[in-house]
Amino acid sequence: MVKDPVCGMNVDEKTANFKSEYMGKAYYFCNQSCKAVFEKNPKRFTDEHSEHEGHGCCCC
Ligand SMILES: [Zn+2]
Repeated sequence: MVKDPVCGMNVDEKTANFKSEYMGKAYYFCNQSCKAVFEKNPKRFTDEHSEHEGHGCCCC
């Protein structure tokens, strides 16, 4: 089982119908909308230091 990076749900990579590849890594999703959200902004879900993303007020 792997985790759907968007909603955090467990997804079985053997049966998952929704898969995306980003930076050479495969990601699996529970449904099409999670996949769409991921593909819109994969960085948001793959960059562990993205906590600050969005506030845009400084360089940190
Ligand atoms: Zn999901």
